[in-house]
Amino acid sequence: MKTMFNLHLSSPIYKAAVFCILALLISCRKNDPAADDALSVHVSGTHYEYYYSASDKDGIDTTWQEAYFAWLVAALDVKVNTKIEFDKYRDRAHLKRMTGRDTNGFSDTSSYRFHTIWKIDNHEGVHTIIIRLIGLPPPLFNEGIAVAFQADYFKYPLFIPEWNGVRLDLLAKTYNQDGKTPSLDNLLGTWSFWNFDTNITYPVAGSFVRYLIDHYGLAKMKSYISSSKFEDSKDQIHVHFMAAYGMTIETAWNEWQIFISQ
Ligand SMILES: [Zn+2]
Repeated sequence: MKTMFNLHLSSPIYKAAVFCILALLISCRKNDPAADDALSVHVSGTHYEYYYSASDKDGIDTTWQEAYFAWLVAALDVKVNTKIEFDKYRDRAHLKRMTGRDTNGFSDTSSYRFHTIWKIDNHEGVHTIIIRLIGLPPPLFNEGIAVAFQADYFKYPLFIPEWNGVRLDLLAKTYNQDGKTPSLDNLLGTWSFWNFDTNITYPVAGSFVRYLIDHYGLAKMKSYISSSKFEDSKDQIHVHFMAAYGMTIETAWNEWQIFISQ
């Protein structure tokens, strides 16, 4: 049976058709952000394995990251013998498509790996190190210690932890004055901690933990964290805190509130 069109592979019409289809496929791919989602670029750093998408114009500032890491492990007095996997996404939508999580970043609790949309990281990687080497405490302390080490290493010659460019203590003082600081009882709850705006709870937790480290030393904070669990009841938190600090957490909280109000 004869067909109406007898196209040869070498015919100009055939070539033009193939070209049009290819052009159409390429243009569709350009309009589809998911097509470039794979973290196909791999850079092997001294302390991290970095991954990001080939279409990610910002990429990762590996120079900043390696310098921050050196400062961080010295400040935490830990040795990290495993490289940390730094998975970078273009934005929240990209991160969500790849991980299923609707967030700017998170740390895997069972491996040396974190995910973020930022080209530098000074939060999720702190979680990674603390969780892998010391422990996973309740949210007030888990977020608190991450924020307490959240600084732009190259912005100051001295380390000053900030939240969105404002010093933690100043922010916590303002929230206190405005009556916005959640009660300690609420902040101690594994789940009630999340009932409040993280732009309040995170810097408050960071300021509190930073106060405890600066005034009572890193060793006591590590001791507390290593004895605790994320889902500890309030009673368990009180017992573990007392064992590490020799005072009630209410006493420490009140001391901190006086400190930031000055
Ligand atoms: Zn965090």
